[in-house]
Amino acid sequence: MPEPTKQTYINSGAWSGWAKRNRDCRECPEPILKGQEVIRVSGKTTTGRWFRSIWHFDCWVVQAHRYNDEHPYVAATGHPGKGRPSFNLTPEQQLRRRALITRFSRLGDKKRAAIDLGLMSKLDYLQHEGQEIMKSMKELGGVPKSWLG
Ligand SMILES: [Zn+2]
Repeated sequence: MPEPTKQTYINSGAWSGWAKRNRDCRECPEPILKGQEVIRVSGKTTTGRWFRSIWHFDCWVVQAHRYNDEHPYVAATGHPGKGRPSFNLTPEQQLRRRALITRFSRLGDKKRAAIDLGLMSKLDYLQHEGQEIMKSMKELGGVPKSWLG
């Protein structure tokens, strides 16, 4: 078993909804504004403490990817054919693919921040980085459809 990290929680539930008032996001320094789409989580950490937290919808996805990066998929044994398709990638390639997905998802946050701040040259740079990630993804099973829309 991997060593539990700060983000590890058990017996938890996650719900999507709308912020009823301004809050702090557990993931990023941007405030959650009233009316924004959020994910609420409550549960118990592995150290036995109850907690409730709130994330920007996209930030929750970022931290969920990070959790999965830290706890890579392990194929179930004895059930051939079960599980998600692996695109015939080696375990190493699958890890790399997952890391790229996380990077791309963080890039989305950075882009939104750059737009908010009007940093258009930074936005160009981030767009370029996104293209580079997509190029790498093509060699690792393909670019997710959701990235192209
Ligand atoms: Zn956030």
